[in-house]
Amino acid sequence: MAGEPQAECLFCKIVAGEVPATVVRETETTVAFRDINPQAPTHVLVIPKVHYPDAASLAAAEPQVMADILCESGRVAADEKVDGTGYRVVFNTGAGAGQTVFHAHLHVLGGRGLNWPPG
Ligand code: 5GP
Repeated sequence: MAGEPQAECLFCKIVAGEVPATVVRETETTVAFRDINPQAPTHVLVIPKVHYPDAASLAAAEPQVMADILCESGRVAADEKVDGTGYRVVFNTGAGAGQTVFHAHLHVLGGRGLNWPPG
């Protein structure tokens, strides 16, 4: 069923506590944890507890949870004190865009200069 945990999904396992992660925030609908391979001094992933493969499918099915993720990204940025200097939020979507984990997740990057366009 849509949104149900997937047995082989790494991020569903993090939500379930079966794979350890450095969790920085948690709500009823979301978990935020540090990326294992950080690309900036602040690199936190905000994920829904429900399983959808990408941002668009999550937004279509559960728009309030998508709103929760975006609100949480702002709280992460404030907690990390990167909201003043600027930070970037990214949903890589599809392998060609660098998506490697097919459970929707928002990257929150900050603490260094961020070029545009991204690589
Ligand atoms: P994507 O490439 O799909 O946009 O982002 C997936 C992110 O998950 C990558 O930045 C990668 O470093 C991170 N990641 C992969 N495996 C783990 C893990 O086991 N723990 C944590 N905390 N992050 C992970």
